[in-house]
Amino acid sequence: MRPTRIVLPTPFAVGPVNAYVFVDAPVTLVDPGPLYPPAQEALDAALQEIGIPRHRIERILLTHHHPDHSGYAPALAAETGAEICAHPDAITRMVQPLGNPEASEQLLRRHGVPEEVLLAMHRELARIISHIAPLTAARPVEEGERILAGGDELEAMLLPGHAPGHLAFIGPDYILGGDAVIAGLTPNPILEVDGSGRRKSLPEYIRSLMRLRALPNLPILSGHREEIEDPAPLLTRYLEQIAERRERVLSALGDRTVQAFMLSQEFFPMRRGADPFLALSEVLGHLDLLMESGLVEESEERGRILYRRRA
Ligand SMILES: [Zn+2]
Repeated sequence: MRPTRIVLPTPFAVGPVNAYVFVDAPVTLVDPGPLYPPAQEALDAALQEIGIPRHRIERILLTHHHPDHSGYAPALAAETGAEICAHPDAITRMVQPLGNPEASEQLLRRHGVPEEVLLAMHRELARIISHIAPLTAARPVEEGERILAGGDELEAMLLPGHAPGHLAFIGPDYILGGDAVIAGLTPNPILEVDGSGRRKSLPEYIRSLMRLRALPNLPILSGHREEIEDPAPLLTRYLEQIAERRERVLSALGDRTVQAFMLSQEFFPMRRGADPFLALSEVLGHLDLLMESGLVEESEERGRILYRRRA
């Protein structure tokens, strides 16, 4: 049986987030929301209305590590004894929410982010991280693994792009899609630094969208907003929009040799209050795509990473 959606407030620009609860045994909560008292109050009120006291939650499934979805999970698990299930890449990031701050900062400098913007990014990251309870224990879930939630058997599918270790859970006649697709929004392929360097978030995201499109066209229960009854046209539109934007980044680049941050500031000049980190993430994603197709090349000169069209 499809899980019940619970809408929770968040302190983030994205707005409310969706949690889902399976009321049959094992009582399972998908994405319990941020560590944020108004979200905890809303969750309690909704569970009460459904008739499930919170101590009966046995299992917490996480689609991805972002705090709007997962921040409250460790505290809820500690209180209820519920088991947290997440992909190993998500678990790593929840155990160490800051990752490797020196490596990230160095990389941002090499892409041209000025010091005052770095400071602002730092403050925003500290604010975001304040809505996460530290994770100590979780059960790792890999691609293809089957998990019981309520009476349903779900299959985990790894769909990175918006976040590393992002899982969807495929049910009998629905997909719990996390932030892979959202009605009326295009999820950001967020810049991520791994041990091995920067991840190619947008190319990863495109492969994830193509995997989703190859599945039967089941309704997607998303991490934000309404459910998507007919995802096939939306998936096609996403892929078209990415291709269009890739072309626009290429023409914005023109015949210059520039750092990605400069290009991102030109590309999103009108978006008032635009987050410079998200703008840079997106432009880098398109540059990755352009490099994959051999249209753009990257070089490094005196600690500056530069992009230009290939001759
Ligand atoms: Zn989200």
